[in-house]
Amino acid sequence: MAELLDTRGRPLRDLRISVTDRCNMRCRYCMPREVFGPDFPFLPRADIMSYEEIDRLASLFVSLGVEKIRLSGGEPLLRRDLHELISMLALHGVELAMTTNGVLLPRYAPALSAAGLDRVTVSLDALDEATFAAITDSGHTVAAVLAGIEAAESVGLGPIKVNTVVKRGANEGEILDLVERFSSRDIATRFIEYMDVGTTNGWAMDDVVTADEIRSLLTDLEPIPSQYPGEVAKRYRLPQGGEVGLITSVTEPFCGDCTRARLSADGHLYTCLFATSGLDLLTPMREGATDAELVAMIESCWSERDDRYSEIRAEASPSRVRVEMSYIGG
Ligand code: SAM
Ligand code: SF4
Ligand code: SF4
Repeated sequence: MAELLDTRGRPLRDLRISVTDRCNMRCRYCMPREVFGPDFPFLPRADIMSYEEIDRLASLFVSLGVEKIRLSGGEPLLRRDLHELISMLALHGVELAMTTNGVLLPRYAPALSAAGLDRVTVSLDALDEATFAAITDSGHTVAAVLAGIEAAESVGLGPIKVNTVVKRGANEGEILDLVERFSSRDIATRFIEYMDVGTTNGWAMDDVVTADEIRSLLTDLEPIPSQYPGEVAKRYRLPQGGEVGLITSVTEPFCGDCTRARLSADGHLYTCLFATSGLDLLTPMREGATDAELVAMIESCWSERDDRYSEIRAEASPSRVRVEMSYIGG
């Protein structure tokens, strides 16, 4: 089959699947508590894809060229018996990863690994408990996340990466401690520029600690050539050994290489993290669409794709209603 390319010649290689829009944390930059409170209209259970539905769509995406699947959310580990989904997806022969806040890993890591999950990325924005508490606003602790990382390591869910969103005034003082803590254990820390995803986090450019600022804190970084086109992080070797990555979506956009599609928990296909709407695949699937019909829908959506939001951020309308990260999957 001819390679499926979008209007900018970008192939479809990665699929991120959000398995739930709910979370056990309320990170200020993602699900601020005053918006995502008890009255927030989370997806009703009936609208959320079953594991069989997720697996069916995943298999179609793999047939179109997807080589990597990442489970995300919300917090993916809130979804019951997630290992059952992993064991289904593992049969497609693609790399299988998950992004998690880590606190439930001590409970679930062994079953996830046994089911065929390859590796995890754990989000951790600070080592200082008070700083972490102020960001995540949920009563969970750094100690719990570190226990999650240990649990993942002990069952071979590596190489583990740690994701840190850096927001000015919140946690830039944590960067060096995080690097020191993890580089000695061969865990790569990836610093993410705070992004204007969704519309609830009150994002302002002044809050972004830029990749340049982070690089200037970390001296003698040696760039590591990217391993494949579409690699999200710019990677660097540290003088003391180990590596860090920078995800520079705001100041050094990488849309030109973006090969990622996202599937929300209610089965909508999004071709950009900053999209305003997605293509509903779940309704036609439930109404009896054949695999060929669903493939045709995905093909047509991808082949018409023109997204490059990060490259045109400055021109984008501030009133553009972007979907939330917790819904679309980070
Ligand atoms: N709950 C899981 C977690 O935190 O790892 C998975 C979902 S979360 C939406 C995925 C990633 O998106 C996390 O690493 C998180 O830090 C990142 N993220 C969320 N909001 C962000 C924002 N406004 N800017 C940059 N990264 C963000
Ligand atoms: Fe939850 Fe992850 Fe968003 Fe934090 S970043 S609120 S842990 S989904
Ligand atoms: Fe991909 Fe959209 Fe991010 Fe650009 S802004 S890298 S197109 S997800």
